[in-house]
Amino acid sequence: MQKLNDIKEFFKEYPLYKEFLYIENYVRNENGIVDPFDFYGLSFEYFCEEEQTNRTFEIDLPVSVKEYYGKLPDDKIPKDFFDENNFLNYKIHLIGLCKSCQKKQTDFLISVKSNQEFPNNKDKIMSKSSKGFKHIDIVEDKKIEVSLTKVGVFPEQKVDIDKSIQQYFDKETNNWYFKGVKLYQQGFGIGSLSYFRRIVEKELMSILSNVSELNSSDPKLKKLIEDFNKNSKISSLYKNSFSLLPKSLQILGDNPFDVLYSLTSEGLHNLTEKESLNKADKIHKLLDYVVKKIYEEKSELQDIRELLKDLRK
Ligand SMILES: [Zn+2]
Repeated sequence: MQKLNDIKEFFKEYPLYKEFLYIENYVRNENGIVDPFDFYGLSFEYFCEEEQTNRTFEIDLPVSVKEYYGKLPDDKIPKDFFDENNFLNYKIHLIGLCKSCQKKQTDFLISVKSNQEFPNNKDKIMSKSSKGFKHIDIVEDKKIEVSLTKVGVFPEQKVDIDKSIQQYFDKETNNWYFKGVKLYQQGFGIGSLSYFRRIVEKELMSILSNVSELNSSDPKLKKLIEDFNKNSKISSLYKNSFSLLPKSLQILGDNPFDVLYSLTSEGLHNLTEKESLNKADKIHKLLDYVVKKIYEEKSELQDIRELLKDLRK
């Protein structure tokens, strides 16, 4: 069976030069993008420069592309989209149009590639299998994959850091956070990972201590941290904290503090640019999640306190 991965995520947050596996087990005539018109009208969330906020965007094609490819027969993929080995391999200019203000504002240059020879027609050829007639691509099961890569984005993607993160960290950490995200978007994995690692080294202990002050934490967590200050290893503190964390963190199934801490003790030099990029993204998402949980609970409590105060007046 053909599988499509979430293309909205690709447009919204994939960095430059990072390959996005879009189609797995390609089957002709099923949904999916193989030529320019398939991109047309796709929607995704993106930052609108005009309105300075996230909006729904839609893909439009440059007029020249519409005119040229619109005239070609649509039962075949145009020849110029294949390389000498008959792999799907071409680049396409796409335009991001904001649905809210109707302004065209982002240009994407996208590379589209298959991992092996690709059928150039869109025929629905059926073939007999042991279970009756099935599409030939399903019977043959060649495991054809199509990947997309952003090779250019203009204007460059905005670094959009959540307000709760900005308010939680100090100026220095915010600066590292910004650089970590920026380098990630540009595909510099080792650089991005270095910044996120540094943030974890500096902030992890105080994040845990903030978590211990939340009402949803087990009071024993505070005690655990106080006792730690006197002796013992920091790694064991993170390990032992799991069962005392708020449920919203325990539901992750693994201890985020233990995971983040283990990253700081691991050597950077063994990782490739690509591995670092993936790791930086994961640390970023995990940090975001934990900090947002603290922020949400604290601000919720604050709201209720103010509400109570108002009612007393
Ligand atoms: Zn807009």
